Amino acid sequence: MFSQQDICKRARTKIVATVGPASRDPDCLAELVRSGVDVFRLNMAHGTPEQQQEHVDAIRRVSEAMDQPIAILVDLAGPKIRLGELADGHIFCEKDAEFSFINGDESNDPHDLTSTYDPLTQELSVGDQVMLSDGSVMMKVTGKEPGRVRMAVVQRGTIRSRQGINLPGVKLSAPAISVDDHMHAIWAAKANVDFVSLSFVRAPDEVKALRDILRSNGSQASVIAKIEKREALDRLDEIVAVSDAIMVARGDLGVEIDVAEMPIEQKRIIRVCHRYEKPVIIATQMLESMHESQRPTRAEVTDVANATLDGADACMLSGETAIGSYPVEAVQMMNRIALATEGSLQGRSATDFERTEYATQFDVTRAVVSGAGLMAQQLGAKILVVASHSGGTALALSQQRSGVPTIGVSSEESTLRKMCLYWGVTPLRGAPACDMPELIRHTDAWARKVGFAEPGDRIVIVGGSHLTAGPNADDMVSGVHDVVVVHEMES
Ligand code: PEP
Repeated sequence: MFSQQDICKRARTKIVATVGPASRDPDCLAELVRSGVDVFRLNMAHGTPEQQQEHVDAIRRVSEAMDQPIAILVDLAGPKIRLGELADGHIFCEKDAEFSFINGDESNDPHDLTSTYDPLTQELSVGDQVMLSDGSVMMKVTGKEPGRVRMAVVQRGTIRSRQGINLPGVKLSAPAISVDDHMHAIWAAKANVDFVSLSFVRAPDEVKALRDILRSNGSQASVIAKIEKREALDRLDEIVAVSDAIMVARGDLGVEIDVAEMPIEQKRIIRVCHRYEKPVIIATQMLESMHESQRPTRAEVTDVANATLDGADACMLSGETAIGSYPVEAVQMMNRIALATEGSLQGRSATDFERTEYATQFDVTRAVVSGAGLMAQQLGAKILVVASHSGGTALALSQQRSGVPTIGVSSEESTLRKMCLYWGVTPLRGAPACDMPELIRHTDAWARKVGFAEPGDRIVIVGGSHLTAGPNADDMVSGVHDVVVVHEMES
């Protein structure tokens, strides 16, 4: 369980860290949590479900040992197309050199490239751009014949076996959820993870399809759409509306669209997420140089700070924590930057939010949490406590960006873990979250014990409609929704 000092030293902007060889040791995982990690990401593009299950088990054990909820996000690869094997593992592509994509997975000529997507030679057209090696190598399709697509190198560089292929603007018929994704989603459901993200989302139905797979396998995991394709930007509102959260996956987004447009698109995505009150994660290359260096560049520090200022709910580390030399230092640095920046953030009032179809369903909750945030601020409350059954009230409160330290309680461990992604909410285990008088007593004792508050201090408690039910759901006063209580601590 985090102490008062731990909570005050943690950024309110959440940190998602990718697990890999550099961080999977349980001692390192625990150190990463102490340094600021709230959510661990397992990237299904690497490793088998059996190997990832070991990570799930290790994270759950760390969570138990620390008595602190820690969330797990499983990231599905989606319809990512990759190069096949290259004869020497890599090849330099000289400007104007000719290469081809051919059918099948075997090649006798180093200039004949294979891919993991069988229909590629049919679906590419003359004039299409083919981006390789994370966008550093560009080829253009110059000709087509059965089973072969000819290309000329426009931007030279080295390509390597199994690297991703990006085809900006090309409409592929690849299913959104591949056979492997389906298998991995079922595994994620059985492993009881908290968030599942889908790569290369193009349409809202793809998000719904993933949710259906999870629900039909007994999982209540939240679904995160990764925005990394032009098609997703074109249907952003619809995708955000059906998703539980969004990831700005800048690695592929910065290749699928002109990288120069990416910062403005990132800001637009954040704004749309705010409008729909959905958490948004900014991902990729945030502290890239910390793979090899103990200090980030000034530009990277500014990138994390700007994401924080723009109102990102979370920032993500990928290779920095998965394979980098300084995983703990990278998390500490991200936490420091966010902490130093958050002082300049201002809370939002309910009127800052545009009314949306989604939001109107939660009007009462939104009004109550907005009032609770204002009351906590005006009364100088030491903490805001939010009791949330499904997490909805905690998320609504998080979206207010209150400056008052916020503790989330719930009788559901899965809800506490979801709160790990909610900006500014620290989940606390063991509180009687369904009974207001008991919750007040518990919060009072806990706040004294950990040094958060003392006699005379005020605590504002806000609860979802389940709290008005009392210990018996039958006692629920009909038509009553969320409640706010101001508690003054006695000596
Ligand atoms: C990205 O493209 O930025 C991303 C997060 O996805 P992946 O790591 O799967 O490429």
